[in-house]
Amino acid sequence: MPEIPKAYEPGRIERDWYNFWLKQGYFTPEIDPKKKPFVIIMPPPNVTGELHLGHALTTTLEDVMVRWQRMKGKPTLWLPGTDHAGIATQVVVEQRLAEQSVTRRDVGREKFLQVAWEWVNNSRASINLQHQMLGASCDWTRERFTLDEGPSKAVRTAFVNLYNKGLIYRGERIINWCPRCQTALSDLEVEHKEINGHLYYIRYPLAAESGFITVATTRPETFFGDTAVAVNPEDVRYKDLIGKKVVLPIIDKQIPVIADDAVDVSFGTGALKITPAHDPTDFEVGQRHNLPLVDIMNPDATLNENAGPYAGLERFACRDMVVDDLKGKGLLEKIEPYLHSVGHCIRCQTMVEPRVSLQWFIRTKPLAEKAIRTVREGDITIIPERFTKIYFEWMENIKDWCISRQLWWGHRIPVWYCQDCGEFTVSVDIVSHCSHCGSIQIAQDNDVLDTWFSSALWTHSTLGWPEDTEDLRYFYPGAVMETGYDILFFWVARMIMMGLEDTGEIPFRTVYLHGLIRDEHGEKMSKLRGNVINPTEAINEYGVDALRFALASNSTPGNDTNLGRGKVESSRNFVNKLWNAARFIFQSVDAQVVADSSQLTALRMEDRWIVSRLNRVIGEVNRLMERFEFGEACWQIYDFMWGEFCDWYVEIAKLRLRPVEPAASPLPFLMNVLESSLRLLHPFMPFVTEELWQNVKQYFPEESHMPDSIMTASYPIADSGAIDPEAERAMNSVIEIIRSIRNVRARYKVEAAKQIEAWVYADELLPQISSQAEAIKTLARVNPLVVAPRKERKGDVGRAVVLVLKESEVILPWASLVDLSVEEQRLTREREVTEARIGQLDARLRDNDFLAKAPQHVVEKEKKRLTELRDKLERVKMEISQLRS
Ligand SMILES: [Zn+2]
Ligand SMILES: [Zn+2]
Repeated sequence: MPEIPKAYEPGRIERDWYNFWLKQGYFTPEIDPKKKPFVIIMPPPNVTGELHLGHALTTTLEDVMVRWQRMKGKPTLWLPGTDHAGIATQVVVEQRLAEQSVTRRDVGREKFLQVAWEWVNNSRASINLQHQMLGASCDWTRERFTLDEGPSKAVRTAFVNLYNKGLIYRGERIINWCPRCQTALSDLEVEHKEINGHLYYIRYPLAAESGFITVATTRPETFFGDTAVAVNPEDVRYKDLIGKKVVLPIIDKQIPVIADDAVDVSFGTGALKITPAHDPTDFEVGQRHNLPLVDIMNPDATLNENAGPYAGLERFACRDMVVDDLKGKGLLEKIEPYLHSVGHCIRCQTMVEPRVSLQWFIRTKPLAEKAIRTVREGDITIIPERFTKIYFEWMENIKDWCISRQLWWGHRIPVWYCQDCGEFTVSVDIVSHCSHCGSIQIAQDNDVLDTWFSSALWTHSTLGWPEDTEDLRYFYPGAVMETGYDILFFWVARMIMMGLEDTGEIPFRTVYLHGLIRDEHGEKMSKLRGNVINPTEAINEYGVDALRFALASNSTPGNDTNLGRGKVESSRNFVNKLWNAARFIFQSVDAQVVADSSQLTALRMEDRWIVSRLNRVIGEVNRLMERFEFGEACWQIYDFMWGEFCDWYVEIAKLRLRPVEPAASPLPFLMNVLESSLRLLHPFMPFVTEELWQNVKQYFPEESHMPDSIMTASYPIADSGAIDPEAERAMNSVIEIIRSIRNVRARYKVEAAKQIEAWVYADELLPQISSQAEAIKTLARVNPLVVAPRKERKGDVGRAVVLVLKESEVILPWASLVDLSVEEQRLTREREVTEARIGQLDARLRDNDFLAKAPQHVVEKEKKRLTELRDKLERVKMEISQLRS
């Protein structure tokens, strides 16, 4: 039998086993119509992304589910892929072009896309490698990219279908515009931040009479786009002004005063400037009153010709000049500080400009209604449950989704505009002439679709939809969608809407949401704080299994995970503990084949105990996994393997390995429990379990027909017949005895090598405890040991430590615990130190100077301390006199 290395070397075996699994084709499921498959479609990481701990957590949790289900015998598909990440990738490629001092417009669309593809192909390959490094058992033969031909055709098909049903439309609406990215953004791509701004009070002179109306605004520079001033119809202050005209200063334009219920009389002056083209609320007011839309900005947020003399200025520079000029004309009443929330682009953090623009939208309401119903009726379950309510709230208030983006990187909108008749041609395939008039003077829409549009189809586009493929028929709908709670709306909700719309079926049955990863103090990880754990570095230092176990064991559904290096390190210690225990077992076997433990009769108590505990833990772990409580499942396995198997069973077994008595050999139990435990742990720590399992396997007879890999072995199932409450009770009692004696030894600092005397008294469990006398003697370093019925216990045991335990009583005679003369010396020193301290304190409390100057609470504290020291002195004196008696 080959020796296994002394220390566990993760790097080497991780690579080797991953390649072995890949070569064996274990990650690719067999389609078996008689079996229901288990399917997870991997949330595609952004192709721009570098692997961070969030990815490592996603990968770990999904791999845990997938390996577990595969071991349970289900055809299991975990489909990997990456997302083209529209804006994010475009930003990266533009930065690369900027390094060569060119813009995307300089190089043109074709060249730009070529540069983007080169970069993306590299990045994709490295993301896939990172997943493989983490042990992800996903089916690489089915890997997809959102811009692949299949998923792209799905995008065009979904677009055309929605358009034909009237659920996609093009219209002028107010949208969030990023002046840096120069594209529309959906509401979800805007991050709101509190800004310390100002509220400017501006006077608009009345047109036909003297006087003015004062409006309050945070954005004076947009007044060029005002098309009305609105007041509340109930506001007595302005009743007479409704219907009259005011003059916009500087550009001398007249606009009406209108009445609208939406005006809040308590905000500012109660009169609002209405700029329908640059504010979402004003846009709605404008719609109600048929106000014209005056767009005053260019795409880069400089002012356009509608701003008269200010045209060409940047929006904030313009604000400063407008304020100065209004002040000069006496039209600025006052400026107040004002804290308000302002939208920023989540990609580049530029302040978003609300802007009326011609864009494509999805009418989401009808889609959302169906998506709400499926969750309400329980066809889809969200874990943890509390997110269901958040989901309903969002879906019930959903607004139309702006899906066009003024970018080049992405799925180009499948619409062609006719220059002759002005109609659209909407088509899945490229068209050469207008479907209305036949003209060839047509041009495709320049824009691309929001990346989340293709992500919304991911559950079925990856399986071949819109074609009727075998994969789609067999693997759709998926079982679980596992992802971060932060993209519940961006992604999960939209997948449910589009899955139902495209296929008529739900896309998955369970949504499992995990939280964010924070540092050990619960702080957000950031480069600035320097508390980021780089997964690649952690893997190099501790191994993949340690990182995976730390991530899985500390996660609970929907909650953030606090993770410091300490946790990864303690997981590594667990791997080492396991390695060393296994190594000891292998070294104890003399090349003989170990029998199956279930064939053995006349089991010893500790054997019955460990088999019973194993089966309880197997049952518990399976139950926890069913409920998605992976963290708790980890701890059950950890406590069993380390706290019971390694610390107790292996230690007790060592005693039995010494004498030559084959019938009583613990080896079958050591091997069998180790073998089952490895399978139980495999989904969490795939590499070390495979390495050890391959070694264990060699000791099992041919007839056990063990598979080639632990990956394809079956997941342990609890045998309720093996549960033995009597053995558990007895072994718990023995463990309690040994632990208590060890604690006493530690408390009195008894030297490790020193044997101490112990008397153990018990009633019911006497025979069982007696049978473990050797274990107690060795593991607690006791000699002599007396185990006797409780009725033989003497009333007076002399000076001794008495431990009253659950099922027994342990007496440790004082004389064997401590060296009396050493103890007397120690106590004498203790007495001297205490007396000296009392002397000092007493003197201080008699010192009038101190009593006059010190605060009362300090004096009280010192008095209390003195009393305590006097009590202590009494105790020490008593112990000394007892020692001498
Ligand atoms: Zn931006
Ligand atoms: Zn036409």
